[in-house]
Amino acid sequence: MVKIGVLALQGAVREHVKCLEAPTTEVVVVKKVEQLGELDGLVLPGGESTTMRRLIDLYGFYEPLKQFAAEGKPMFGTCAGLILMADQIVDRDSGHLSVINMKVQRNAFGRQRESFEADLHVTGVGEDIRAVFIRAPLIVEVGEDVEVLSKYGEEIVAARQGRFLACSFHPELTDDHRFHQFFVSMVEEAKEECEPSK
Ligand code: GLN
Repeated sequence: MVKIGVLALQGAVREHVKCLEAPTTEVVVVKKVEQLGELDGLVLPGGESTTMRRLIDLYGFYEPLKQFAAEGKPMFGTCAGLILMADQIVDRDSGHLSVINMKVQRNAFGRQRESFEADLHVTGVGEDIRAVFIRAPLIVEVGEDVEVLSKYGEEIVAARQGRFLACSFHPELTDDHRFHQFFVSMVEEAKEECEPSK
């Protein structure tokens, strides 16, 4: 059994909870810093990254989230969550949580394509993954240790660095839970590595 939290400061929280719920997964809606301690993994949902960062600071989540990542606990960011995880953001001096070595561009698809859907191949996750893009960011550069998991045309839209997973679309808005299952397996593996005797 793994315990996975969904950071509930803003954004599509309920949808992530629905995708994660399974007999082997306990899902926690995270509203207080103290809850982080009991978790094996955390989802950072979509929403609006600057607002989410403001709320992270306001409720004292910044250092505890950095600590959570430093302990090697898996994180999965979707859309605004991906932006929070990047260590470089176009037109901004610094990243937010900076846990993945990649550069992202916010709202990268422009007005005409504010939202759209596509079926994508995602390495390790599967074929024909329905991707819902909403004012989505793009990954414009990745570092050496970052694995590109998916592209939309030439553009990178999903990546992983060790225990940190991110995509620029919203798998929580579909009935296809494979992306979340992939994250749950990452959390199970990480937990197994930390507590090999169990
Ligand atoms: N455009 C938003 C941002 O920059 C992200 C959009 C989303 O999460 N759907 O934070």
